[in-house]
Amino acid sequence: MTKLEKIYEGKAKTLYTTEDPDLLIQYFKDDATALDGKKKGVIHEKGKINNRISSRLFRYLEKNGIKTHFVDMPDEREMVVKKMTIFPIEVVVRNIVAGSLAKRMGMEEGAPLKETILELYYKSDPLGDPMINESHVMAFGLAKKDELTQIENTALRINRILSKFFDERGIILVDFKLEFGLHKGEILLGDEITPDGCRLWDKETLEKMDKDRFRRDLGNVEEAYKMILQKVMEHGN
Ligand code: UDP
Repeated sequence: MTKLEKIYEGKAKTLYTTEDPDLLIQYFKDDATALDGKKKGVIHEKGKINNRISSRLFRYLEKNGIKTHFVDMPDEREMVVKKMTIFPIEVVVRNIVAGSLAKRMGMEEGAPLKETILELYYKSDPLGDPMINESHVMAFGLAKKDELTQIENTALRINRILSKFFDERGIILVDFKLEFGLHKGEILLGDEITPDGCRLWDKETLEKMDKDRFRRDLGNVEEAYKMILQKVMEHGN
């Protein structure tokens, strides 16, 4: 399968058409951005690391009954995915207080939650992804009611599967962002699951092993991503 035409270039990935109209190639770059694009940089080898992490997690989710856009990883920076129409919604699942939630609620990072929190954001770079709720989704026609219900239920199932997966590898899944899309009438998990879009803390030391190391200039960014890759590859099932 070869990359034909570039159809979209995002912050961390580029999408190309292929000879198969149903399939795209998602190319993982080393570029990193934070603070709504105001902070820009490169994390050495990130594209290769994230492609491997995401491929491993998508395969694992598929084995556990979650439908994803993942098809194959033919190259170290390339993932073959099913072509989807993406819902313009970012779904954030939170198990522990961190990031924007800590700020919004005036709480310390690391505070426990009585329940998992699920948040919705409108996917719009120029607007800085504003937070929305279910009635915004309906009122603006971002998804149908039954689609949103399925998306939310799937996000919570993914949280249960991945929290356990990471816990078994000595890592706390603090929070993460998911995107979903429609492919031939079916809702699939899209995008990527990597340290760019997840908060992952070492269970023993609570050390941050994710993009917060880049956002907050904590150093050893590549090392943290590599450590996560090593952990997700453990017990190879
Ligand atoms: N996240 C993301 N893309 C975004 C916003 C958030 O991948 O545009 C992820 C982020 O990495 C974290 C979770 O979603 O794992 C929650 O992020 P938060 O709302 O705390 O925002 P942040 O402080 O990271 O901007």
